[in-house]
Amino acid sequence: MALRFYNTLALKVEPFAPAHDNTVRMYTCGPTVYDFAHIGNYRTFVFQDLLRRYLKYKGYQLLHVMNITDVEDKIIRNALARQQSLADYTAIYEKAFLEDSETLRLQRPERMVRATEHIPEMAEFIAALEKKGFAYRTEDGSYYFRIARFPEYGKLSKKDFSGMEVGARVDVDEYEKDNARDFALWKAPKEGEAFWESSIGPGRPGWHIECSVMSMKYLGDSFDLHAGGEDLTFPHHENEIAQSESLTGQPFARHWMHVRFLLVEGEKMSKSAGNFYTLRDLLVKGHKPSSIRFLLTSVPYRKQLNFTMAGLEQAAKSVERLRTFASRMRMMRLSAGTNPAAQAAAAKAKQEMRAGMEDDLNTAYASAAVFDMVREMNTLADHGELREGDKAPSLEVLERFDEIFAVMKDGDADKMKAAMEWARGQGLMGAAAETVPDEEVNRLIEERNAAKRARDFARSDAIRKQLADGGIVLEDTKDGTRWKRK
Ligand SMILES: [Zn+2]
Repeated sequence: MALRFYNTLALKVEPFAPAHDNTVRMYTCGPTVYDFAHIGNYRTFVFQDLLRRYLKYKGYQLLHVMNITDVEDKIIRNALARQQSLADYTAIYEKAFLEDSETLRLQRPERMVRATEHIPEMAEFIAALEKKGFAYRTEDGSYYFRIARFPEYGKLSKKDFSGMEVGARVDVDEYEKDNARDFALWKAPKEGEAFWESSIGPGRPGWHIECSVMSMKYLGDSFDLHAGGEDLTFPHHENEIAQSESLTGQPFARHWMHVRFLLVEGEKMSKSAGNFYTLRDLLVKGHKPSSIRFLLTSVPYRKQLNFTMAGLEQAAKSVERLRTFASRMRMMRLSAGTNPAAQAAAAKAKQEMRAGMEDDLNTAYASAAVFDMVREMNTLADHGELREGDKAPSLEVLERFDEIFAVMKDGDADKMKAAMEWARGQGLMGAAAETVPDEEVNRLIEERNAAKRARDFARSDAIRKQLADGGIVLEDTKDGTRWKRK
């Protein structure tokens, strides 16, 4: 078994190993701190965490650099609108990102670096590009990359740009594929906007140059792996390659990994569709961080994930099944010895989990292997066929699983409480403060059903009233109780 990853640059699955010694040098595009990150962003960040964890699981050392983009178009626009300095404005969202990352148990990369702390290096990089003829200065003092000088432009996004207009320019950080133009490396100051004095004049960096400069500063001209969301392939990553390779003449990142977008309730997430969720929105609605993390890992990163509230409830049950199994194994009193069937189940789970992860991080396959083991062991336990010596191998499988998936440790309640307190502090709760979270509704419905079975109608009516006061309408059908919000 050898580790293999899909490489966007090669359009195929390839073996992966670090180029030098035992250390994987990798760069992942971090958050642009202009707002709270949404659940689609966190699919990418959870994937990056899983990638980290699996590389460590295999015994590699890591040098993982993640940037914090704290200057770009959206940030400048929003900070200006709020009449805040860039630093004050971005500090709020950087802090929120770090807190959310802890909530989702994302490991800290070895280095997290802010764009605004690397402005002199960016200016130098641009000056060097200009000297080699890859960049030019316009009359207002901005600098652009001359893509006609880099014939390989398009090699990552597989776009043919041969017919493009030479010398046409684009100065926004994000643009569509048919809009390939010389892109801004450095933007001259505009009225009211933040700018820096630098060796190439006053201004501020474009978004793409930030990542080229910071990755190469900490990882070298060539490094092992670069990852990000699929939307970054063009123009962001294409431009990073153009900037870096034209400067050094060396391959930039050898291996590129891109995480597919997710759908929410079957649709593209958008504020107008009403299916746009930040992590905090979900916590305040009563969903557990472990359920969210588990759901985000449930589909391999290159496949479409449909993120649904029903899926979150299912994920909560799955995590619970693992936690319950672990405590059952720890608590059970069993007679000495081993059962070969149980030993085989644990060995198979361990081997298949690894096989799944080696295969381009097939998380669905890897976790299914563990759930199969749990089911088999539970059946053996129910029939009194488990022995004391079967506990350790199965618990070891769970421990190994959790080194990668990180959902077993139960810190959910505290994290949800903290999110609620934060939302209250922000005055964001409003009507929602009185709202009963989904999980509490389900719990109360179960309690009501139990009361009805026990013919305790006073209690069942009281629960119905309590839910009605919280805006929850119950409907008893022959298939059980359904509910909706008023
Ligand atoms: Zn980047």
